[in-house]
Amino acid sequence: MPVRSKVLKPDCRACGLCCAALYADNESWADLTDEDIAALPKRWKKYALPVTPGWAFTENHYAFATKYDKDGNTVCVGLKGTLARKVSCALYENRPSVCRDSIQPGNKDCKTLRSKYAMLFRGT
Ligand code: SF4
Ligand code: SF4
Repeated sequence: MPVRSKVLKPDCRACGLCCAALYADNESWADLTDEDIAALPKRWKKYALPVTPGWAFTENHYAFATKYDKDGNTVCVGLKGTLARKVSCALYENRPSVCRDSIQPGNKDCKTLRSKYAMLFRGT
């Protein structure tokens, strides 16, 4: 499938861009509210890390830890698989509110993100 077709088709299981901390795009981080942390299964709570003001945010809050995928992209610790290839959320039923409420497949933010990082879909 040509790259342009892949980018235009918002398939979350072959994407995961909104679960990644891409370069300086801090909006890709999974911020956690107190309610989100309370709802996390026990084994995921240790990945809720405090983020102090002065870097990208102005207030104390928590965010999910990140890790590297197989291609070296920085992604949410909950993301299984490889960005822009095949992914899933390891805690989908308990994912944070920001993951449920912000970017939706095919909406404006989704299209913007997928267009901006279209180069990642090459070679898939
Ligand atoms: S909502 Fe959009 S950017 Fe996020 S994983 Fe799905 S297709 Fe990708
Ligand atoms: S918790 Fe799941 S849906 Fe939310 S950013 Fe992490 S991998 Fe993506």
